[in-house]
Amino acid sequence: MSLIMKFGGSSLADAEQFRRVGNLIRRELARTPVVVLSASGETTDRLLAAASASARGELEASQSLRARVVQHHRDVVEELFGRSEAATGLGDQLASSEEDLAVLLRGIYLLRESTPRSRDAIAAIGEDLSTAILAAWLVHSGVDCERVDARQLIATDERFGAARIDRRRSAARIDERLRPQLGPGRAVITQGFVGATALGLTTTLGRGGSDLTAAILGADLGSEEVQIWTDVEGVHTCDPRMVERARPIERLSFAEASELALFGARVLHPATIEPAVERGIPVTVRHTGRPEGAFTTIEDQGRPKEGVTALASRGPVTIITVGSPRMVDQSGFLAALFSVFSRHEVSVDLVATAESSVSLTVDGAQTVDRMVAELEELATVEVRTDRVIVAVVGQRLRSTPGLCGAAFGALVALNIEMVSMGANEVNLSFVVREQDRSTTLTALHDVLFPWSASV
Ligand code: ADP
Ligand code: ASP
Ligand code: MG
Repeated sequence: MSLIMKFGGSSLADAEQFRRVGNLIRRELARTPVVVLSASGETTDRLLAAASASARGELEASQSLRARVVQHHRDVVEELFGRSEAATGLGDQLASSEEDLAVLLRGIYLLRESTPRSRDAIAAIGEDLSTAILAAWLVHSGVDCERVDARQLIATDERFGAARIDRRRSAARIDERLRPQLGPGRAVITQGFVGATALGLTTTLGRGGSDLTAAILGADLGSEEVQIWTDVEGVHTCDPRMVERARPIERLSFAEASELALFGARVLHPATIEPAVERGIPVTVRHTGRPEGAFTTIEDQGRPKEGVTALASRGPVTIITVGSPRMVDQSGFLAALFSVFSRHEVSVDLVATAESSVSLTVDGAQTVDRMVAELEELATVEVRTDRVIVAVVGQRLRSTPGLCGAAFGALVALNIEMVSMGANEVNLSFVVREQDRSTTLTALHDVLFPWSASV
């Protein structure tokens, strides 16, 4: 048996947090911990921003982001090890990652092109650095600890930036290269988020992908539990940054947790649950700063509960409203409309139709200008950016007495731009302006979780 302990970037923001993570691992040594780490703090954002700056030819901005990443890690190392850094062998490892980073950023600058392949090579350096530091810290504090490079374990395809894991090849590598390292009293550390193609090129699993690495390792090793350590006491009834009164949920079924993740609760990566479900391994979500506090256990308890589980939101999204009197009598209009979206590879999220218009939401990061120009040849088009989707997530929502009445009642004073009830009855979604996100969530939370209004 083994225990997967995944620590997110928010749990590794400074030297003090590295120490705390080290202590949490140390107290679980008897359970054969396999530790999966994200990059420290904001490192991934900074690395990717540096790549973008290089591609735009903004050398100074790129260099200053690189310097911030390097300095941040040097500060953590100095605070942890003082001047004994060289003795740990860490100095060389850091220097080599820093050099790789400088070379990759220079290449992007010279070519003015940042491809998903080079962005992956750059982003992965964040996890390379955090794991090198924590492994050295554990050894320094007397823990028997081995670091295994995730490129040796997670085999992926070549979809750089959002690589898919080859489960069969990964399982064989995990068996061959990770399993023999495990043993009670010993910690094994690897990078989350990072994998490699068959040719050995570095890939990443998409933002937030360390959770997925943890789940895959847990499933393949048949671990007793996958622990996701983060900066909140478990999955809450809503993102506590949006609704202060949100409270931790003690137990969630796999189905409820994966829906919440899909609808934007970034506390868990949406694909995390599936590998754990396969093997019936419980996933717990815990607070690194308050290990004795509340936490959520996600496990298969048979049928999920009926009614509202939690609220989630995601954005930005763009609303595209296409109006045409022709819609009324021309049955092919919707087909023509969707074929334009498909040709421009713009994926549609929510759809709401009226007699002579149809509104759709698309991911705000997609460029829609050319598609809109083409749509304008068919009909009138209105584009509204900086919107968000706010979702009530649960089970059998249509048959939950009073849900719609309560939800709409709570929102009368707000400007709701689109409404959609998912065909599968697990979500009731509203589209609102970005600046109304928190007010909308709070208003819904107060009526759907009445206990919270009096907290
Ligand atoms: P990590 O660095 O540990 O991966 P993330 O920032 O990815 O952490 O995820 C934790 C954050 O998820 C929390 O700080 C919280 O703001 C956000 N979050 C969104 N929805 C929820 C929810 N329903 N319950 C708890 N946290 C949530
Ligand atoms: N470091 C990566 C990110 O920020 C992966 C992760 O944290 O899960 O997206
Ligand atoms: Mg995360």
